[in-house]
Amino acid sequence: MSKPKVAFFDFTSCEGCQLSILNLETELLELLDIIDIVEFREAMSEKSDTYDIAVIEGSYSRDSDLKRLRKIRETAGVVVAMGACAHIGGLNALRNSQQREDLLKKVYPDHPEWYETNEKALPISAAIKVDAVVPGCPVDVKEFVHIVKNLVLGKDPGLPTYPVCVECKLNENICVYELGKTCLGPVVRAGCNAVCTSNGGVCIGCRGLIPNPNLNSQKDIMQKYGLDMQRIIDSVNLFMTENAREVQ
Ligand code: SF4
Ligand code: SF4
Ligand code: SF4
Repeated sequence: MSKPKVAFFDFTSCEGCQLSILNLETELLELLDIIDIVEFREAMSEKSDTYDIAVIEGSYSRDSDLKRLRKIRETAGVVVAMGACAHIGGLNALRNSQQREDLLKKVYPDHPEWYETNEKALPISAAIKVDAVVPGCPVDVKEFVHIVKNLVLGKDPGLPTYPVCVECKLNENICVYELGKTCLGPVVRAGCNAVCTSNGGVCIGCRGLIPNPNLNSQKDIMQKYGLDMQRIIDSVNLFMTENAREVQ
């Protein structure tokens, strides 16, 4: 039986997720036992007009992206959004609270008209149907391999549906709310082993929301600790576009 053909594509991103995949060592060889990589700009010059699985990195942030995204969708049986940029808009979403014209003038003061951007940077699901996501910024490569294996076997990608708080508590961390900080752990999808809160940070939501996040409970936590809800909204806006809050 022939192996499924997998193609990687990049849109607006830092390409850190693709680099993480290239840094895979034994796992990449394992993966190549079950898939054929037919296009991957960072690693090979060959391109392919046919592929079974399209792995897309980067957000949808230019009008011209739409045509390319639709072509990929028409060609691939399975479309995977890889990394926070493709999944929820990612750090590109930071610009969404500002006017496009103002931003262009700030970043490219001499020739803002040379640069093409949409009003907002969006997850790719705002343009095409997405079948699976690999969350994170950057993605966890072991999770990436696990998800691709499941997709090849026709199984559910198998992402956790519980929040980061579960992993954080299992790691016996002191909750950062006790220290007067704000954390998105109660509503963000686990799977990173609460890496930020276990290393002195807070969760800023790079893995997107869990299905049916309990936002009222998040409000109760903010009230309990006397914190302004705006801090949560600002944290959510860091990585997630409005559309992304529907993408789980
Ligand atoms: S999700 Fe993060 S690491 Fe991946 S491409 Fe976007 S900014 Fe880079
Ligand atoms: S620090 Fe964050 S992730 Fe950990 S228990 Fe508190 S709210 Fe949850
Ligand atoms: S703790 Fe939060 S911000 Fe950190 S990796 Fe996990 S989901 Fe992302």
